[in-house]
Amino acid sequence: MPLVTPEHEEIRRSVREFVEHEIKPIANDLDRRGEDIPDHILAKMAELGYFGIIFPPEDGGLGLDYISMAIVTEELSRGWLSVGSVMTRNLITGSLIRAAGTPDQKRNFLPKLARGEMLSAAAFTEPDGGSDTASFKTRAVKRGDGYSLSGAKMWCTFANRAHVLTVMARTDPDPARKHRGLSLFLFEKQPGDQFMPPQLAGEPIPTVGYHGMRSYSLSFDEAYVPATNLIGGVEGRGFYQLMASYEEARIQTAARAVGVAQAAYEAAVRYAHERTQFGEPIGNFQVIRHKLAHMAIDLEAARQLAYHAASQKDTGKRCDFEAGMAKVFAAEMAERVAREAMQIHGGYGYSMEFDVQRYWRDARVLSIFEGTNEIQLEVIGRRIMEQG
Ligand SMILES: Cc1cc2nc3c(=O)[nH]c(=O)nc-3n(C[C@H](O)[C@H](O)[C@H](O)COP(=O)(O)OP(=O)(O)OC[C@H]3O[C@@H](n4cnc5c(N)ncnc54)[C@H](O)[C@@H]3O)c2cc1C
Repeated sequence: MPLVTPEHEEIRRSVREFVEHEIKPIANDLDRRGEDIPDHILAKMAELGYFGIIFPPEDGGLGLDYISMAIVTEELSRGWLSVGSVMTRNLITGSLIRAAGTPDQKRNFLPKLARGEMLSAAAFTEPDGGSDTASFKTRAVKRGDGYSLSGAKMWCTFANRAHVLTVMARTDPDPARKHRGLSLFLFEKQPGDQFMPPQLAGEPIPTVGYHGMRSYSLSFDEAYVPATNLIGGVEGRGFYQLMASYEEARIQTAARAVGVAQAAYEAAVRYAHERTQFGEPIGNFQVIRHKLAHMAIDLEAARQLAYHAASQKDTGKRCDFEAGMAKVFAAEMAERVAREAMQIHGGYGYSMEFDVQRYWRDARVLSIFEGTNEIQLEVIGRRIMEQG
C-alpha cells in the first residue's frame, strides 16, 4: 500500500491552490517589511480546517492522518515558512490537551483550537534554558484557587496574537526534583501587540528570517492562572506531557523543511531555464544540471523520511527515532538546497527582489528549533547504542 494515496494527493492539490492564490503573491513583500501573516489568511486557514487537521470531528477537527498533516504543512511552507508553522502551535496545544487534559479542558479548549477560533503559542524556552528543559525556572506558586506565574520566557513565537499560551512552569521549587517539578498551564490572554493582562509583558526579538510571526521574550510577574488550567489537573507531569508531543512536532518540522526546500528547488529550475549565459540557458551546463539533480535527490529523500515517520505515527507505534531522523535530515537538506538555489541565481539570488534569499534565511532556523539537531542526534545515537 503506497504511503501517499490519491486522497492525499487531492489534499495537496487543494492546499497548493490556496498557496498559489493567497500566499505566494504576498509572502516576499510581507517578509521584507517584517509584517505578520494577515488576519484574513489566518481566517481562511481556520475555515479550511488546517488548525485541527488531525483532531477527530467530534473535537472540531478534520479527522485526517499524520501524512495529511505532513502534506498540508509541506505545501503551506512551500508558500511561506511562517504560514506552514502557524498551525503547529494549535496542533501541539490541542494534542497535549487530547492526550492529558481534563474533561473540562477538552471541552473548553479543544474545539476552539481545532477550528482556529482560539490561537495558541508555546512558552517553554527560557533565557537560561533551551535544550535543557529540566532546568526551567519559571515558578508557579499556589494562590487561592489557582497559581501565580513569575519568570522569564524566551522565543515564544506568535505570543502577541495568541489567545492562550502553553506555559511550562515549576510547581515544585526543589531543584533536585528537576523535570519532576514541572507542570504545563494554559495561560489565557488577550490577543494583540499590547500584552494583557498587565502581569504579562512581551518584547519582539528581531530575527534574520522566519518573518510573518514574531518571536517574543516574555516576562510573567505574578500572573494568575486558575488551577482548572493546569493541564491534566495534577502537578509535576508537564515534562512528560511535552515529551509525548515531540514526535508530532518533529514530523511537522521535517515537513516544513521539505516545503521550504521544494520552493527553493522550483525557483532554481525556473531560473536555470530562463537565464542565459554564453548564448544558452544556464541549465544546459552540466554543473548546473548536476546541482539540480542533487537537490532533487536530497529533497525526495527528506520527503520520504518525513512521510515514513508520519506513517509510523499513524499506526500508533513509537516513532521518536524516525521523527528525529526526518527532522535532522530535512533541516540540513533545506539549508543545502536553498544554498544551491541561491547559487544558481548568481548575483540576483542575493537580491531582496527574488524569493530565493527568503528560502535561504528561513531554512536556517529549522536546525535550531523544535529540539536542535544536536539534541536529535543525541536521541538517535542513544537509541542506536541501546539497540546494541
Ligand atoms: C525563530 C525561533 C522560534 C522559536 N520558537 C519557539 C517557541 O515558539 N516556543 C519555545 O518554547 N521555543 C521556541 N524557540 C526556542 C528553541 O526551541 C530553542 O532555541 C532551542 O530549543 C535551543 O535552545 P537554546 O536556544 O537555549 O540553545 P542551547 O540549548 O543553549 O544550545 C546551544 C547550543 O548547544 C547545543 N547543545 C545544548 N545541549 C547539548 C547537548 N546535551 N549535547 C550536544 N549539544 C548540545 C545546542 O544544540 C546548540 O547548538 C524558538 C527559537 C527560534 C530561533
